[in-house]
Amino acid sequence: MARIYRDTDADPAILEGRTVAIIGYGNQGRAQALNLHDGGVAVVVGGIPDATLDRAKEDGLPAMSVAEAAAAGDIICLLIPDEVQQQVYREEIAPHLAPGKALDFAHGYNVHYGFIAPPEETDVIMVAPRMIGVGVRDAYLAGKSVPAFVAVHQDGSGQAWPKTLALARAMGCTRSGAIETTFAEETELDHFSEHFVWPAVFRILVGCYDFLTEKGYQPEAALMELWGSKEAAEVLERMAEVGLFKQLDFHSPTSQYGTLSRLEAALPAETRGCMEAALEEIKDGSFAREWETEQASGYPVFTRLKQAALSHPLNEMERTVRRLLGEQLG
Ligand code: NDP
Repeated sequence: MARIYRDTDADPAILEGRTVAIIGYGNQGRAQALNLHDGGVAVVVGGIPDATLDRAKEDGLPAMSVAEAAAAGDIICLLIPDEVQQQVYREEIAPHLAPGKALDFAHGYNVHYGFIAPPEETDVIMVAPRMIGVGVRDAYLAGKSVPAFVAVHQDGSGQAWPKTLALARAMGCTRSGAIETTFAEETELDHFSEHFVWPAVFRILVGCYDFLTEKGYQPEAALMELWGSKEAAEVLERMAEVGLFKQLDFHSPTSQYGTLSRLEAALPAETRGCMEAALEEIKDGSFAREWETEQASGYPVFTRLKQAALSHPLNEMERTVRRLLGEQLG
């Protein structure tokens, strides 16, 4: 079972007398810097001398070059785009590493694939919010928890975990629980979502939009129906809150039945053929007749499909994860 760390697992004292250098003041950098600053942690910001760095000064934070911040920081948080991290690390950060210092990442990519390999006396740690930067800041200000993965890749000082947990706590990531992972797991899960799940979702949405408009539906109406109304975003939010299948209760029985009874058929090898079939049975009224029969006979198929969905092991795992994270069950 995954290990969950909460506020009580972290000792903020380990950050006393230490400086956290936030390298980069973008999505994650600004949010994490401000959360840490509000939590009483000594923060400096390192970056290119431009408007972004000026913003850090306007926010009341000491701002300086990357090299100066790396020199000042006991914990150096590398919060610049992954593709530039290797060069910036080599040229401006590595020269300022020393025994007892820690290098913190919000994504395991560069360490996992060996593009950044700090000396063994350096702590290599990760606090990776599963949230965009604005959300990290908003959740903190609202007193809510910021969901996160935490990991230690290299424990040079013997204090890598205490530092990681104190950092996560100060950012607001252990209020309801941060999940322990590894740099490999975080990177591979993240990439799997990016390389398969989201492309599949995008392709379905785009494919359906093309299909429906080809069939003569108004593009505005199709776009609104598929994702433009934010109903899809609401559904995803409810999935995270109460459960993937349990959120079906927010929809009409007709909608629930339509979804559950067509679950298996939705993604065959020949997706286009399924689109045709689904549209055909909607257009010719066969779905409506089937649903009418189902209602008249006391919902036997609907009941079976729903029970099967709610019997899936993921429902139990969702309960487990929510319990571990201290949230109310849906
Ligand atoms: P951003 O794209 O928002 O980073 C922009 C910042 O990086 C700016 O301050 C920019 O400075 C600075 N920067 C860019 N190039 C350089 C350079 N060569 N030298 C110095 N500073 C530079 O990054 P994110 O916050 O999106 O990502 C940071 C890390 O967080 C990544 O590892 C990412 O995978 C991870 N992460 C990101 C999430 C997100 O929500 N975006 C979620 C979870 C993890 P300037 O403006 O002056 O150009």
